[in-house]
Amino acid sequence: MKIEQNISLKPYHSFGCQVAASYFTRITEAAAIPKCIEWSKANHTPLLFIGGGSNLLFTKKVNALVAKVEISGIKKIEETATQVILSVGAGENWHYFVSYCVQKSWGGIENLSLIPGTVGASPIQNIGAYGVEVQEVIDSVTAYDIKEEKWVELKNKDCAFEYRNSIFKKEKGRYIIAAVNFILQKQPKLRTDYGAIRDALHEKGIKHPNLESMANVIIQIRSSKLPNPKQLGNAGSFFKNPSISKEYFEALKEKFPSIVAYPITDTTYKVAAGWLIESCEWKGIRKGNVGCYDKQALVLVNYGEATGQEIFDFSEEIIQSVYLKFGILLEREVNII
Ligand SMILES: Cc1cc2nc3c(=O)[nH]c(=O)nc-3n(C[C@H](O)[C@H](O)[C@H](O)COP(=O)(O)OP(=O)(O)OC[C@H]3O[C@@H](n4cnc5c(N)ncnc54)[C@H](O)[C@@H]3O)c2cc1C
Repeated sequence: MKIEQNISLKPYHSFGCQVAASYFTRITEAAAIPKCIEWSKANHTPLLFIGGGSNLLFTKKVNALVAKVEISGIKKIEETATQVILSVGAGENWHYFVSYCVQKSWGGIENLSLIPGTVGASPIQNIGAYGVEVQEVIDSVTAYDIKEEKWVELKNKDCAFEYRNSIFKKEKGRYIIAAVNFILQKQPKLRTDYGAIRDALHEKGIKHPNLESMANVIIQIRSSKLPNPKQLGNAGSFFKNPSISKEYFEALKEKFPSIVAYPITDTTYKVAAGWLIESCEWKGIRKGNVGCYDKQALVLVNYGEATGQEIFDFSEEIIQSVYLKFGILLEREVNII
C-alpha cells in the first residue's frame, strides 16, 4: 500500500476546490481495505473512502487518510433465460457500467445513464434519476464491516434503501463497499413514464424505444440541463427534494398555486426543491466564485476558485431563504466533509 502525504484533492472531486489531504492512497483490490483500516488505527488517523468524488464538498483540509477506491472488474455470476447477475468492482465507473449493460442488451439501469461516480458509491445514496432508483436492480452489496471487523454480504433488504438514503449513509463510515451485485433483465420493461423522456422520444420520432435509444435520450436530456463537472465544478443536485405532510402541501398550494410536488403516500408529498429555490429567485445568481446554475436551480457551481466553505455558505443562504418563504428546511444531498 503506497501512502502519499499532503496531496491536493482538487483532481479527485467534481467541485474542483483546492484542498489538501494529509494522507492519500489508492485501493485497487478488496484485500487492501482491511490493511488501510489497520494503518489508520496504528497511526491514529481517521479514514475517508472516496470513489469519483462527485457527491462530496470539502470545506477544510482533510486531516485523514483519503482512500480512493479503484477496484475494477465486471463478472457474470449467473445467467438464466430472463436475467443476468453481475458482480461489479466498486471502483468501476458508473456510466461505463451502464453503457456496458446497454451494449449487452441487459436492462434496468439505462435511465441512470451519465450519472458521474463509481459503482461502489451507487448504493450509498441509492442513486436515482428519471423514475428509477438503483435499489431496484441491486441483489446484494459486498462490504467490509469496520464495526464487526469482517467481510459481509448485505442482501437488498438489509441495505435499508430509501430516497437518496441507505444503511451505508445512516451508519456512515461503517461499511466499505468492495463490490455491488446487480440483477439485470434480458427482456426489460422500459421506463418511459417520466415527462421529459416521453417528450424527447416524441421529438425524435421514436415510437418503439430500445435500451440504446433510451440511454441516448437520457444522455441528451442530462447534457442539456446539467453542467459538465470538467468545465464547471459541481456535484449535481445539491439539495434533496423535501417531503411534507398532505395538509401542509394543501396549505402551500393555496398560497402558491404553481408549487411543483407529487404525492408519495396517502399522507405525504415530495416537493421539487428546484422549484422552491427558483421561487426564491436564486436561479442564475452568482456571488463571487459560487453560483446557482442558470439551467437547473438545484445545482450549485464553482466558477473557478471557490473554496468548499464559500460553497457551503452559499448553500446556507439558500436554505435560510427557502425556509423563510415556505417554512421548509432543505436538506443537503451532497456529503459535507
Ligand atoms: C453532474 C452531476 C450529476 C449528478 N446526477 C445525479 C443523479 O441524477 N442522481 C443521483 O442520485 N446522483 C447524482 N449525482 C451525484 C453523484 O454522481 C452520485 O452520488 C454518485 O453515486 C457518487 O459517486 P462517487 O463515486 O463520486 O462517490 P463519492 O462522491 O466519492 O462519495 C460519496 C459518498 O460515498 C462514500 N463512498 C464512496 N465510495 C465508497 C465505497 N466504496 N465504500 C464506502 N463508502 C464509499 C464517500 O465517503 C462519500 O460519503 C450527480 C453528480 C454530478 C456531479
